[in-house]
Amino acid sequence: MNILVTGGTGFIGSHTLVELYQAGHRAVVVDNLCNSSQQVLGRVERLLGLAEGEIPFYEVDICDEQGLERMLERHSVDACIHFAGLKAVGESVEKPWLYYSNNIGGTLTLLKVMERHGCKNMVFSSSATVYGEAAAMPLVEDCPKGQCTNPYGWTKSMIEQVLTDVQRADAEWNIVLLRYFNPVGAHPSGLIGENPRGVPNNLMPYITQVAAGQRRELCIFGSDYPTPDGTGVRDYIHVCDLALSHIAALGAVARRCGLEVYNIGTGKGYSVLEMVQTFERVNGVKVPYRIGERRAGDVAECWCDPSKARRELGWQAKLGLEDMVRDSWHWQQSCGMP
Ligand code: NAD
Ligand code: UDP
Repeated sequence: MNILVTGGTGFIGSHTLVELYQAGHRAVVVDNLCNSSQQVLGRVERLLGLAEGEIPFYEVDICDEQGLERMLERHSVDACIHFAGLKAVGESVEKPWLYYSNNIGGTLTLLKVMERHGCKNMVFSSSATVYGEAAAMPLVEDCPKGQCTNPYGWTKSMIEQVLTDVQRADAEWNIVLLRYFNPVGAHPSGLIGENPRGVPNNLMPYITQVAAGQRRELCIFGSDYPTPDGTGVRDYIHVCDLALSHIAALGAVARRCGLEVYNIGTGKGYSVLEMVQTFERVNGVKVPYRIGERRAGDVAECWCDPSKARRELGWQAKLGLEDMVRDSWHWQQSCGMP
């Protein structure tokens, strides 16, 4: 299939491009480069043995209807994997209008242009955050959605609703909502990975920067949660496994699935302390840390039952925590290389 990949130069998008081509698909990439660089595409091409510039790229904002229109006039696409969006939780609290207009407004524009070109197939990057503070773990897809603690989370929840209503109104649409848990790791080649700007919000890039000596110590946000060691528990998933879930989701779209939602995690929860200890053991480096206050908006634990994706998509995560911490460290050490 020929796939429109919005946000394709980003962290998850770039890993998904690799898996798309390896599975025999092709892609057209759209990104406004607000949180990524076009160099990533060159690295993806290198990794795949493609010629430079072989993957068509458009530096276009998904809010720009004319820009999207021009791109779809030149390329006929079978489906869209829609990654483009802003994702910094703290920034979304400060600039809610930016998040609502970019993420929701951009998605509405994208839907309009896709529909005009007769492409009614989409895989959307949603998030575990739509569950809010759930009563019990593991999370299953039919758990009720909850109250989000920030505008970023609400954009995901609202876009899910928009896509659900669009599909309900027109059964020609096939839409898969993938609720990601905590993506970490990087491609084992060391050529692509996550490059957070400024101080990382997320645990894994913070750990790698501390291990590399770029930051003094990790602050563990709370050790008094009702979890086995008191620190927060999450379902971390290797980005390469996550990327493969999109290929599986395209299969569902091709089978005319209507609207489906899947949890994309490993089904195992690990605490912050377990992450630090595993990182130190596997990589043979120290990660100095201190225990700090809980971070506002954090839940004690968040992990899923991913069995629906296994049953219906034939997808399941294959990589474990050791792969995640090894590949994250490898990327940290190689990301400055040309
Ligand atoms: P990322 O920031 O690395 O990638 C997103 C890409 O979208 C970037 O390259 C950015 O330049 C681009 N973009 C943003 N707004 C755009 C616009 N208006 N027009 C065109 N391009 C635009 O983030 P990521 O980690 O790869 O996340 C991809 C998607 O997955 C996002 O929608 C994110 O919200 C979602 N998600 C991520 C996580 C996570 O922890 N990384 C968890 C759950 C869901
Ligand atoms: N965390 C931490 N210190 C940090 C960043 C994160 O202790 O500097 C904890 C956080 O409280 C949570 C877990 O690590 O329990 C994962 O946080 P992250 O921000 O990576 O993902 P989230 O699940 O919050 O989206």
